[in-house]
Amino acid sequence: MEEKTLLVSAVALKKHFVIKKSIIKKNVRVLKAVDGVDLRIHEGEIVGLVGESGCGKSTLGRSLLRLHSITSGDVWFDNNVITRFNNSSMLPFRKDMQMIFQDPFASLNPRKTIYDSIREPLDVHNIGNNEDRDNRVKELLDYVGLGKNIYKYPHEMSGGQRQRVVIARAVVMKPRFVVCDEPVSALDVSVRAQVLNLMEDLKERNNMAYLFISHDLSVVRYLCDTIAVMYLGKIVEVASKAELFNNPVHPYTKALLSAIPIPDVDKKMNKIVLSGDVPSPLNPPAGCRFHTRCPYATERCSKEMPAMKRLNDNHSAACFFAE
Ligand code: SF4
Repeated sequence: MEEKTLLVSAVALKKHFVIKKSIIKKNVRVLKAVDGVDLRIHEGEIVGLVGESGCGKSTLGRSLLRLHSITSGDVWFDNNVITRFNNSSMLPFRKDMQMIFQDPFASLNPRKTIYDSIREPLDVHNIGNNEDRDNRVKELLDYVGLGKNIYKYPHEMSGGQRQRVVIARAVVMKPRFVVCDEPVSALDVSVRAQVLNLMEDLKERNNMAYLFISHDLSVVRYLCDTIAVMYLGKIVEVASKAELFNNPVHPYTKALLSAIPIPDVDKKMNKIVLSGDVPSPLNPPAGCRFHTRCPYATERCSKEMPAMKRLNDNHSAACFFAE
């Protein structure tokens, strides 16, 4: 089997936010949004990142791109420890690392035509001459099906068209890694499949890697090669798509998968309903982060944090009883 090249990796990555309730020092609290994450993304791979709202998915995505300062740990990109770089050292890497945001309307400048919005990164990074840039933008707009709309403004377009513009803007510099933060969750179901297919085509065309953040497991199942499950700032299970859907081992993953609707009225859903709310990342529980909601928790789980256990080449999970 062909060995894939490692492109991005997080090593013991932490991103904590200090929240000051008042100017008195003792009222400072720490929100542990990402709290010791290891993750590996290979060239051309689509890694899905799933978990409930507020579990740290978006913060992890932004931290990998160095859009946040890092509390501790490292991010490697193409054999460079980019967490040690200052802003000017990061600049050459910026064109290789892009982000697609959830809300296309908020990520486009309402005063710019879509042609200008897509061309802007090429101008900023001084790529090619005027004609090269013009050709590249027009060719890309044709490819994403917006060739007739190049001088329109964002408000003159539908939600699906705007998201295509945002995708085109992210890929115009042929990046090697794109963080896609819930890119289809704001779209109507009828246009989701078109946008997902477009993203898949562009990925194949440019051999990009994606970190695809979503709370929708059906979307992740459709698109991703590998899936990482996140809970309260930590990755609790990582597996190939087939492994994760056929043989989930972490109780949290099992609960998430049990909630996917089955398109068969005769089949009964065995939904696992978790008790309690997600604890606050301001005060995460000791031991296994999931023990306050886990139906299989033992006394050990409330005292010790389970390490990530490698089950096979394509599957790891952080649970004492994973096998
Ligand atoms: Fe549940 Fe314990 Fe496993 Fe955590 S370590 S997931 S609490 S069984």
